[in-house]
Amino acid sequence: MVRCNKPGCRFCEKGKGKGHGPIWILSVSLGSRQVRQIPIPRELKKEVEESLRAFARMRKLLKQIGQVNLELLKERKRRRQ
Ligand SMILES: [Zn+2]
Repeated sequence: MVRCNKPGCRFCEKGKGKGHGPIWILSVSLGSRQVRQIPIPRELKKEVEESLRAFARMRKLLKQIGQVNLELLKERKRRRQ
């Protein structure tokens, strides 16, 4: 929910109004503490959420691959000794 802070707005009235919305904001981390905030139209919300889930799955897989490779590296080092 967002508040427009316009005087007399019935949606934003202090203690009563809930503000405008709901609206959905996608926060994208660009690294080095940079974050871009992108408003998502209602009709794209589902698609964006599915994409985020796919992104999370990929990131988890890459992390697992990294861990397996680390174990393989340790094993190869052990065998050299
Ligand atoms: Zn308002």
